[in-house]
Order: sequence, then structure tokens, then C-alpha cells
Amino acid sequence: MDRLQQLKERVAEVMDLRHALALLEWDQQTYMPSGGNEARAEQISTLSKIAHQKFTSPEVGQLLEDLAPEMESVPYDSDEAALVRRTKREYDRRTKLPMALVARFARITSLAHETWVHARRESNFAMFAPTLAEIVELEIETAEAYGYLESIYDPLMDGFEPGMKTLQLKQIFAELRDGLVPIVQAIVESPHKVDRRFLGQKFAIQQQEAFSLELLKGIGYDFQRGRQDRTAHPFTTTFSSGDVRVTNRFMEDLMTSSIFSAIHEGGHALYDQGIPPRFDRTPLAFGASFGVHESQSRMWENIVGRNLHFWKFWFPLAQKAFPGQLDDVSVEGFWQTINTVEPSAIRVESDEVTYNLHIMLRFEVEMALLEGKIATKDLPEIWNAKMEEYLGYQVKNDAEGVLQDVHWSGGSFGYFPSYSLGNLLSVQYFTRALEDIPDLYRQFERGEYGGLLTWLHENIHVYGGKYMPAELTEKVIGGPISPQPFLAYLRKKYGEIYGI
Ligand code: ZN
Repeated sequence: MDRLQQLKERVAEVMDLRHALALLEWDQQTYMPSGGNEARAEQISTLSKIAHQKFTSPEVGQLLEDLAPEMESVPYDSDEAALVRRTKREYDRRTKLPMALVARFARITSLAHETWVHARRESNFAMFAPTLAEIVELEIETAEAYGYLESIYDPLMDGFEPGMKTLQLKQIFAELRDGLVPIVQAIVESPHKVDRRFLGQKFAIQQQEAFSLELLKGIGYDFQRGRQDRTAHPFTTTFSSGDVRVTNRFMEDLMTSSIFSAIHEGGHALYDQGIPPRFDRTPLAFGASFGVHESQSRMWENIVGRNLHFWKFWFPLAQKAFPGQLDDVSVEGFWQTINTVEPSAIRVESDEVTYNLHIMLRFEVEMALLEGKIATKDLPEIWNAKMEEYLGYQVKNDAEGVLQDVHWSGGSFGYFPSYSLGNLLSVQYFTRALEDIPDLYRQFERGEYGGLLTWLHENIHVYGGKYMPAELTEKVIGGPISPQPFLAYLRKKYGEIYGI
């Protein structure tokens, strides 16, 4: 048996273990009774350990080493070269972590989740602070184990955004912030106020669920290879190209939440359903990065799903789905409501304009923690001051402030920038698609998304994880990531809505 085949088989087993893990986690967040919590944590920890050991075994290292000279004559764009490249990259990273650190990290972050949930429920940061301090220590230890040249943030972000450096991110953020601040200011000062009264009604959960399924089907999500279940925090999870699941949450008094979660998670799922089945059980079965993944979900959610053309088709269907509740609302009125810009506390519910300011705030806080410039116990004060500075928002309590996001309890330092990078890329990719398919908006008015989906499939999905995010972006748009197209998009769209 040749070496490549041996490597593929080794890696396939690791992928099987990871997908089994993902299934345990999906179950935990959808159907598992709370009594199963502790045993599930053990099961997850055991499987993670086996997957880690299997992947970082010396045999895999030897195979990669032996394959290196062979790969020199294999074309860079081939599946084989990409598979070896991606596996080698991950192998080099993971083998730098001592097993004891991996185990400690898994245990502490698994326990931290409940501590965070509890602290958030009580809106009391002090309850979470000692755990967070411990996690920050672990993140620092992890970053040191990976090693870095310029910034301690680099090796952590690299796990989510391969190749992105902190220096480049800071430049992107500075440019983005300079562009965003005047837009937010103009909107806040605009005399135009959006009428949001219809949102005050209660919308039946069952009707919301039925409508979200209609939307998912409408944009092209394949229910033969997926399903939607209920959860506390919406997410998408993939077990293979034939089984890509989304989740959603339904709140009677916030019907727009389930609508946009459906389209957002649907965007993630269309990416994974579009990755060629031949990549199943390989590291190429995931997208290029978390940011590129987010570019898909945010494109469908915001550029498509918050567009007037989209709602010209869907609004009459929404009126039918919620009988009597939207009769006095016009499609333009609905469209304005779902695009209301208002500095607010919660990132996941924030609008397209202010969203990235939330991310920059988290990035600065993470940097300062990792560099030891601030202490965990002072976080609420620092957080609230930054919210005031960035968004002019006065935080009322820890629950809507520093405790709002789950990421830190899971040890995901370095993750947040991916959200903003995804927002920027979503506009850059979409602009390119629009150049290729000029009547895209007309298609949306007819409820047709096949044109866009095929374009995304051919230009992005089909590559799976073959390329680094910067390589892929260069391939798709012929240039690097930039905040300018995103800013131009905001100016045009919100100029129209707010008359600025
Ligand atoms: Zn997402």
C-alpha cells in the first residue's frame, strides 16, 4: 500500500472520531437531558484524547516526512498535495502541545462552561473571574507552546484564520473603524426613525419554526442531507457532506431572530453541503477558515436576507405564515425594520453597521489579557468603558456586558476576528458574483437563489479546505481582503434607509 493511502486511512479514522465527537456535542445541545451532563463531559474528553493521540502519533509524522519529496512533483492544486499540506500544517501545530496541557485545557474549559452559564444567569462576573483567569493562563501557555515571532495573539488566531497575522488584522481594524465611526454617527443623528411597532407582537413558536423551514428550503438547503432542530444558541454542525445539520431558537417576542438565524446557519450549511463528497473523512472537508465560513453565513443573512429584493418575494409568504399579524406592514416597512441601526449591548443581535465594533472591543480585550496588561478581575470596568467609547452604549449589568459570549469559557481566544473578516469577505465575494451575474437581484425577487448558489459552489465551496484563506480570496476576487468594499456597501445601503 502506498504511503499516501496509509496517511489517508490514518487521517480518516481521526476524522471519524471527530465527527463522533461532534455528534455527542450536537446531542448535548439539542436533546440530551441535563442529567447526562457529567457523563457526557467524560465521554467527550476521552474521545478528544484518543483523537489527539491518534493524529499526533509518530507514524503520522513519519508518513508526512516520507511523503514530502514525493509531493514536490505533484501539482500544488491537486487534492493529494492539498491533503498532505493541510495535514502537515495541523500536525505541526498539534504536536507542539504537550498532552498534559491538552488534557488540562479540555477539563478546565469543559467545567468552565457551567460556571459561565451560572455567572451569566446571576449577572455576576466575580463568579466567573477565577475560572477565566485560569483559562487566560492556559491560553498563554498554549501560545508559548506553539511559539510566535511578533505577537502572542498570532498562534492562537492561526487556529481559526490560518496565515492571518495580528499586525495585518490591526491595520484592517484601524481602517474599518475609521470608516465605521462616521457612518454610525450619521445614523444616530439622522432624524429618520424606523417604525418597529409590529415587532412588539407575540409570534407563535410553531409558525416561526414552519417559516424558518420554508426559508431554508427556499435558499437551497437540502433536507435530504440535513435537518433543523431546536437549541439555546443556533449553530451548524457537519458529520459528512451527506449530513449537515442546522439548529435554531424561537422566541415569541423576537420573531426576526429565528428568521435570520435560519438564513445565517443555512449559509454555513450550504457551504458544507457544497463541499465535494470525495473530501469526506479528510481535513479538506472543512472550509478554508472560520472567516471564510462566516463570509457565507453573513452573505446569506445580510446581503441576501436583509435585502429589499429578497423580501419582495418572501414578505407575502411571511404574511401568510403569520396570519393577521403583518397585514398593516408594507414590504418597505418590514425591510427598514430588519435593518434598524442602533448601538446596543448584545453582539449577536446587533446590526450590520455596529457589529464589527463589538468584535474590535473583544479583540483589544483579548490582546490586553494575553499580554498581561490588564487583570481579569478588572474586566467589567474595562468592558463597560469601551462600550461607551465605541458604541456610546451604557452597559447595565455583567450579563449584557462582559459575560454575554460563550467563547472565553470554551477557551476560544483568537476566534472573534473571524466574524469581522467574514463580514468583509462576504461583500468582496458577493460583489464579484454580481459582476458575473448582473441580474442577481432580479432573481432574488423571483425567489431564485440557484444563480448565486452555483456561483458560490464553483468559486468557493468546491475547493473545501484546499487553500489558505488568503489564497482562496486571491483566486476568487483577484486581490486581498479589504474593508473598503464593505464600507462602500454600508454607505450605499444605509444612506438609502436613513437618508444620509
Ligand atoms: Zn456563523
